[in-house]
Amino acid sequence: MKVGFIGLGAMGAPMAERVVKAGFQTFTTFHSRREPADALAALGAFVLGSAAEVARAADTVITILPADAELREVVFGANGLLAGLSPGKVLIDMTTATAMIMQEVESALAPVGVQVLDAPVSGGTTAAASGALTIMVGGDPALLEQCRPLLETMGSRIVHVGPVGQGKVVKIINQTMAAVHLLAIGEAFALGIRCGASPATLYSVIKESSGYSKMMDLRLPGFLLAGSFQPGFRLDLMKKDVHLALDSARALRVPLLLTATVGQVFSAASGAGKGNADFSAAAQYLASLAGVDLSQVST
Ligand code: NDP
Repeated sequence: MKVGFIGLGAMGAPMAERVVKAGFQTFTTFHSRREPADALAALGAFVLGSAAEVARAADTVITILPADAELREVVFGANGLLAGLSPGKVLIDMTTATAMIMQEVESALAPVGVQVLDAPVSGGTTAAASGALTIMVGGDPALLEQCRPLLETMGSRIVHVGPVGQGKVVKIINQTMAAVHLLAIGEAFALGIRCGASPATLYSVIKESSGYSKMMDLRLPGFLLAGSFQPGFRLDLMKKDVHLALDSARALRVPLLLTATVGQVFSAASGAGKGNADFSAAAQYLASLAGVDLSQVST
């Protein structure tokens, strides 16, 4: 199988590296930064001039881009994938985007004889580097089995979740809940601290109580309680995910009352200059509105 890989960012670069190192002949291209493509070429990949050229050279093309707009540009834009794809080829999109764009891509590629898998990931850059991602796959189960050896170079948990679009749905719902849980911690801990509680006590007690969420383990130690916001997962990417959920909800006329507020907090934190910090900075930003510094009181 000849693999095309487009989107060599924080996630894509380590994922593509694993594909190359697993022995797949790999073709890539670049957008504004050439360095990640050159680094992949140093491992044996071929750097081509456009997405269309990558689609012509590869049997299976992987994309992992910021969101809908970039995926649309890479597929439908000038010298995009559509210009190079031909019958029998496969597109695996691993972007966190909406189900709607995924279905739009599938509808455009099916008449060309190109099959699509929708395969967003979770686990962050550490899991990307170690091949331990969870991959949520929407699409034909037989196509997933055909692509499984390729996906197994990047992920240790590959779950079929339904037809094309459902991977995006499961991923966006996870992101929505993660964002709500994070800000619930920021807001509730700010109240607790203002009432005289220690955040360490709150954490140890609530960890065993009904208010617990896994987000406490993921973002209290090492981030909020330490006052350290090295990403991790950038706040602007989580802001994008929350707004993808809000966009989908608007299109489907589903009220997202909590998420709408959470989206405003992420927008405000981004506007305050936190966009490149870890997304947990949004919880500290919310606590700051109550004059609380979660790290200072925890020491
Ligand atoms: P980055 O911003 O680091 O990388 C995005 C990549 O897309 C870059 O290689 C960029 O190229 C390329 N790109 C951007 N616009 C275009 C375009 N118009 N045409 C072609 N290429 C383009 O993002 P991440 O790698 O962090 O994230 C990728 C996806 O994975 C996102 O959907 C994100 O939500 C998701 N994700 C991220 C996680 C994380 O921890 N970072 C965890 C799980 C999922 P260039 O730099 O040259 O412009």
